[in-house]
Amino acid sequence: MTALPLVFDAPRRGMPPRHLADLTREEARAAVTELGQPAFRADQLARHFYRGVTDPALMTDLPAAARQDLTEALLPGLLTVVRHQTADNGRTRKTLWRLHDGALVESVLMRYPDRATVCISSQAGCGMACPFCATGQSGLTRNLSAAEIIGQAVAAAAAMANGELDGGPGRLSNVVFMGMGEPLANYARVRKTLDALLTPAPHGLGLSQRAVTVSTVGLVPAIRRLTDEGRNVTLAVSLHAPDDELRDTLVPINTRWKVGEVIDAADAYARKTGRRYSVEYALIRDVNDQPFRADLLGTLLAGRLAHVNLIPLNPTPGSPWDASPLPAQREFVARLRAAGVATTVRDTRGQDIDGACGQLAAADRVEGVPAVALPTPQLEPPVPLGDEADQADGA
Ligand code: SF4
Repeated sequence: MTALPLVFDAPRRGMPPRHLADLTREEARAAVTELGQPAFRADQLARHFYRGVTDPALMTDLPAAARQDLTEALLPGLLTVVRHQTADNGRTRKTLWRLHDGALVESVLMRYPDRATVCISSQAGCGMACPFCATGQSGLTRNLSAAEIIGQAVAAAAAMANGELDGGPGRLSNVVFMGMGEPLANYARVRKTLDALLTPAPHGLGLSQRAVTVSTVGLVPAIRRLTDEGRNVTLAVSLHAPDDELRDTLVPINTRWKVGEVIDAADAYARKTGRRYSVEYALIRDVNDQPFRADLLGTLLAGRLAHVNLIPLNPTPGSPWDASPLPAQREFVARLRAAGVATTVRDTRGQDIDGACGQLAAADRVEGVPAVALPTPQLEPPVPLGDEADQADGA
């Protein structure tokens, strides 16, 4: 296994108290035993947690005398709702969460006719410093714990089950790691989160592998590690430029791992999983939306098991970065398709709730805690996958 370089060693300060979701099943059973309870109580606690039950009074299968101790020890409240904002006729809901140390993160739940997707954050802030991204400008506050990441998905699943979005009760079907942070820079906890998302109840949410998407700006050793570890989730590579000259400035980590290396690693992932990967490309006016760059991208990706997902930049007030105009978007799409590259343009949900990212968290700046924000290119779930992806999943 490739040793991860220092770039992945994000700050550990401020990590939250231990939570059941941070533990393996064996560790959880041992922890319950240490509290003087039979090991099977860990399964009961897990069932409550993954159903979104947080009130000990509702855990009627646990002895009343033990509920408080068990929940305090293993189900501490890690995410506090600061506020919800809804959009798209109640079918999109963005939640601002406060963590135990005051850091702020966001998740966005989106309901579609055929699915419900939550976009979750894996870090408070981000250390990747992409200049067009509000989150990148604030820097990294800290990694989220596995339980803090999992908790966002559990809350979304509960919101769907409880009918909190317009359309009545439903089921969370998809999770995308496209909120705040670079997921593969918090590898171990994201890996643990994947286990929780994919594991059937009571120790997880039981989602399908093809319904979970991990995005990355291109941390090549971590992509290779994910490949080796054999989880067939969907990989999304945030490329944003087809050439190193531009990408070195738009995605600074490119100075470490070049476009060719990133695409090689994504290709290896596709070969191993049989699953098409997604290339995310934020279309930025007069920066990366020129016809010649569409041609470069088309040449780069032609013949690969990849799909381009174009994202018209969602501009942040005061930022010099702006979305490509529609004619430029159309030209870009046409050139990619002419090169034989499957291409979609992402529908940007939630624009009327500051879906342009960061503004929600920035508005809630608290003393001593940096304002943090969702990255600009975000939200819509990944590309519609082809048959080959479904087959690879064994679905
Ligand atoms: S675009 Fe993504 S990787 Fe880049 S700074 Fe923003 S959150 Fe981080």
